[in-house]
Amino acid sequence: MANAAPANTTNEVLAYDSLFINGEWRKPASQDTVVVTSASTGQIMGRMPVSTHADADAAVAAARRAFTDPTGWATWEPRQRARALRRLADELDARKDEMARRVSGQNGMPVSTSINFEAAVPAGVLRYYAALAEQLPVEETRPGVLRGTSLVHRTPLGVVAAIVPWNFPQTLTFFKLAPALAAGNTVVVKPSTETLLDFALLAQAVAAAGIPAGVINILSSGRGLGAYLVGHPGVDKISFTGSTAVGREIAGRAGQLLRPVTLELGGKSAAIILDDAELESNTEELFIASLLNNGQTCFASTRILAPRNRYTEVVEFYKALAEGSVVGDALDPATQIGPMVSAGHRDKVVSYIERGIADGATLVTGGPTSDHENGWFVRPTIFADVDNSSAIAQEEIFGPVLSIIAYEGDDEAIRIANDSEFGLGGTVWSTDAERAALIAKQVQTGTIGINHYLPDFAAPYGGVKSSGMGRELGPEGLAHYQQLHSIYI
Ligand code: NAD
Repeated sequence: MANAAPANTTNEVLAYDSLFINGEWRKPASQDTVVVTSASTGQIMGRMPVSTHADADAAVAAARRAFTDPTGWATWEPRQRARALRRLADELDARKDEMARRVSGQNGMPVSTSINFEAAVPAGVLRYYAALAEQLPVEETRPGVLRGTSLVHRTPLGVVAAIVPWNFPQTLTFFKLAPALAAGNTVVVKPSTETLLDFALLAQAVAAAGIPAGVINILSSGRGLGAYLVGHPGVDKISFTGSTAVGREIAGRAGQLLRPVTLELGGKSAAIILDDAELESNTEELFIASLLNNGQTCFASTRILAPRNRYTEVVEFYKALAEGSVVGDALDPATQIGPMVSAGHRDKVVSYIERGIADGATLVTGGPTSDHENGWFVRPTIFADVDNSSAIAQEEIFGPVLSIIAYEGDDEAIRIANDSEFGLGGTVWSTDAERAALIAKQVQTGTIGINHYLPDFAAPYGGVKSSGMGRELGPEGLAHYQQLHSIYI
């Protein structure tokens, strides 16, 4: 590697001067750099070159060459690709601690969370799709209804542009990379500018795993480059995770181009606490469901629906949960709530807290001020007496801010849960699993958990309404990276 940044210590600047394109570290077309800062301290963590349109053209061309190579990746037997995916998983495992530190340093995710997600999910999802690719046939013969037989043949789509956000940068990248690669596609990844140093580490793992040149290419610029990739004539499929506003723009462009697109967008999910729910024994799961990654989590249940006859108890429970959380440097293993990713995002979250107060919700704990001098911290904040139609209950805040809303009876809980533009996640809390499942089925959302929330590799993950189109994970996620080709015999 031309510009290997040495092994990480927390205060060392990781300076890169090249981009990972076509299986090698290449000089970028421009001298400009993106500076990446620590969310906990505001200090510079590293630098990456700015990728220009010329770099994007080179990445797409490399991915196209790798895809059309007559003996290359797309032509390999699924078993051969599965072996390569497992090698990449092993290389990522060998970089686990460093990966967790890099992600947490940049985006503020507590390191105890990033070790379980950012450092573990990519290898896990690679191994899941490696096994699936080996098991699922790529062609099947069906008896014809009118005459003969039909051979249904599944082929890769081509060059995939994977555009990802900063909140779970590695996890969300691999929700795309693993199925796309297992199906035989080649990929150009465009991360957010807030989280680039983890992608340099990923590039090292890709090279060490011997993934063929051009199969995975990584760019490093912001929204302009993302938009350029979406419209690039060399791209066959767009896979996007990010905000609903940007998702709409991308869907519009993809519509004009008739280019396949998968969209994983924002959320404002509900935690329905039923009148028989146990709170204390579920404390850890309730925290994860609503406050994982400082609330910078798309599926977080940030609207807490509490039965009126237990309302005070639920408010007291969340007050204690927020006040008992350890807020601090994301790299401290004891930290439960770290900072927001950037000063700009911190300001946005604070403005929602001010809006909640102005709109008449009761501030139970937290508030717009921070106890920290450095970094982009927001105090875990709980609002009670929230009207579900208010801004803090309807709009995605993406921070540690929860709204507790009272309901009377299960039907009203379901109605309030569904009274949202979004439909990504959600949870139901009850000691009666059957009753909880009955309610979960009536919530209009792509995914929902009972007494916990954690997406599983084997089940399709995604949103309805303004939370997205298409699904990731499971066999359904693989199908999104395959073309169907019917041959009538
Ligand atoms: P964002 O939409 O601002 O950016 C996401 C990515 O898109 C970044 O790489 C960005 O550079 C790029 N981008 C921005 N504008 C673009 C454009 N016009 N064309 C192409 N690319 C463009 O989102 P963010 O602030 O980075 O992430 C937070 C959002 O992501 C939240 O809304 C969150 O709910 C959502 N999210 C959704 C899921 C999910 O699985 N549904 C998961 C994580 C995050």
